Amino acid sequence: MNKKEYIEKADKNLLHVYNRFPVIFDYGKGVYLYDELDEKYLDFASGIGVMAFGYGNEDFENALTTQLKRITHTSNLYYHVPMIEAAEKITKASGMDKVFFTNSGAEAIEGALKTAKKYAYTKKGPGDYEVIAMENSFHGRTVGSLSVTGTEHYREPFYPLMSGVEFATFNDFGSVLAKLTDKTCAIIMETVQGEGGLYPADKEFIQKVRQLCDEKDILLILDEVQCGMGRTGSMYAFQQYDIKPDVLTTAKALGNGVPVGAFCVTDKVAASSLVPGDHGTTYGGNPLCTAAVAQVFDMFEDYKMLDHVNAITPYFEQTLDRLVEKYDFITARRGMGLMQGLVLTIPVKEVVTKALLEEHLVVLSAGADVLRLLPPLVITEQNIDEFKEKIERVFEKFV
Ligand SMILES: *Cc1c(COP(=O)(O)O)cnc(C)c1O
Repeated sequence: MNKKEYIEKADKNLLHVYNRFPVIFDYGKGVYLYDELDEKYLDFASGIGVMAFGYGNEDFENALTTQLKRITHTSNLYYHVPMIEAAEKITKASGMDKVFFTNSGAEAIEGALKTAKKYAYTKKGPGDYEVIAMENSFHGRTVGSLSVTGTEHYREPFYPLMSGVEFATFNDFGSVLAKLTDKTCAIIMETVQGEGGLYPADKEFIQKVRQLCDEKDILLILDEVQCGMGRTGSMYAFQQYDIKPDVLTTAKALGNGVPVGAFCVTDKVAASSLVPGDHGTTYGGNPLCTAAVAQVFDMFEDYKMLDHVNAITPYFEQTLDRLVEKYDFITARRGMGLMQGLVLTIPVKEVVTKALLEEHLVVLSAGADVLRLLPPLVITEQNIDEFKEKIERVFEKFV
């Protein structure tokens, strides 16, 4: 079958909820993807921040293959070693105390919301169910995670959603205070807003929110599904803010391509929230997925990945800053580490499409006007130079 026939078959059988680009990716090697004709693409999207170690990593594949041949699933009714090891590695890397494995980021958010409600219920009884979320945020597409996602047009067709959600302005502490009531049980935010346009939290803002949560005994939920796992230069972005959340969500790069997420809580939260019977999942944390998680954390250590991210980030930032200087239609660079965005006054969707189809460069958009770059963490200066050449050829078409 040729590409046209495959795409026709896809459109016949798949529910049309994505406007996919007309590209069929077949395999990957390092930071490159290859289509069905073996044509090579430079990947600065990493499957939306998932493929931190790039494609075809042998250490990763060996760990998964070994696990695949032993056991892929047992259920959460029993213990198995990969989950035990993965949980220990997450708590060690994050400073959180307890882990619950999920299958996705959205499910991690669901668990975080249930944890906050149960914590308030345990401490104060029913009724304290309100959650303060941030405008411009993204937390997922399930009903609960959508309820705290700050984009009205994503939510509106699905009302009524979870009740008791109020939206505050990100990085505006006064607006958080204005939404606070006696019924508030949690404040949820991304440490660095991803889909909303690459906005890092201000240190002062997040520290004030932390203090408020302590004073009122409400939970701070930090969603690091996108900005976690080394992307900003620390294993979790909050570790650069001198604070710790009560609940942390992590996914995307957690399994380097294997679908897995987790929410993590402190001992204080664990002691007054979910207990047996309150929560569960069939697949969540199965042996195959948690073997991937354990291997990912091992590779962070073995390859000294955080050192690499911190070493390469200035070169990436300088390269992007030169583009901001050179092109009038780029008004700013925003982000942290290898999570960067260029704010454009030209149509970002056109830039993303031209980059992919004409330059074989895979990039993303965020919000209405941001070109979003989430390269695999293993990129080199040479890859960044190649990115610059390709994106400049795209930009030149808009001059
Ligand atoms: C992607 C994302 C989610 C949702 O994760 P899924 O695995 O797609 O359910 C939640 N929060 C943030 C910050 C994300 O970037």
